[in-house]
Amino acid sequence: MNIIQVYKQFPTQDACIAYLEKVRWNGKPQCPYCKSHNTTSYKKGHRHHCNNCKTTYSVTVATIFHKTKADLQKWFLAISLILNAKKGISSRQLARDIEVNRNTAWYMGMRIRRAMFDDNDLLRGIAKMDETYIGGKPRKGGDGKTKGGPRKRGRGTKKTPVVGMMERGGRVRAQKATKLSYKKLSTLVRGNIDRDDAVLMTDQYNSYFRMQEIIDHKVVDHGKCYVDGDIHTNNIESFWALLKRGIVGQYHKVSVKHLNKYVREFCYRHNHRDDVEVFDLTIKNAMGGTQ
Ligand SMILES: [Zn+2]
Repeated sequence: MNIIQVYKQFPTQDACIAYLEKVRWNGKPQCPYCKSHNTTSYKKGHRHHCNNCKTTYSVTVATIFHKTKADLQKWFLAISLILNAKKGISSRQLARDIEVNRNTAWYMGMRIRRAMFDDNDLLRGIAKMDETYIGGKPRKGGDGKTKGGPRKRGRGTKKTPVVGMMERGGRVRAQKATKLSYKKLSTLVRGNIDRDDAVLMTDQYNSYFRMQEIIDHKVVDHGKCYVDGDIHTNNIESFWALLKRGIVGQYHKVSVKHLNKYVREFCYRHNHRDDVEVFDLTIKNAMGGTQ
């Protein structure tokens, strides 16, 4: 859903709340504290009283929208903007678009990212595994040129490695990895790829050598992500390119602490690029607890 559709479908706070109540409870309010359905709903303010534990609550308790001051319509618009921003959206831009201050926009963006997670369905078929490196640019000297010689790339630099796996057809999983040891990489394979129903493709990097022990493994020349002459366009290299452009262009300084949240955002958007129901899915994720 684009922002015009969101704007039309959810013109008021009431419309947003009605939708959230339908997604979360399917019309039957349940106390988030004691799980009782024995409730009395107040006509005003969309609050419900639990007759069991005697508390009152609204549909946003324990969700990303809890205790928010911003209108839910703004949240919905922000979700739509983030889902549709292929290269990501900065909090400054989000602040301008939905007319909130920058801190609020940053906070909303971080919370929305918590609802952007995929199910645990494993990757199958031909799965390419690869890493990229994310990090700040080196300091510039007075002449605008890089200090300390040419910029190092990839393995051996102080940048943070991000490891990704993509199946043919394009589903991707990626996350930061502090170490690229066999142990770490094989754990990622086990957790993300169906080892009985997949062929793992990697380059010749040492840590991949023993993968044959746990999965059918093929080594390819670096940069080549096609098999049998069949070039598939949804390859992991183009995913890395988009991720890097997004992080450099929109988010500038992403701390290592938050890096995974941005990586997951890009994975989610990529995995749902043709999914017409991704807005509803994201709201569902947001209501069903966050990860
Ligand atoms: Zn209760």
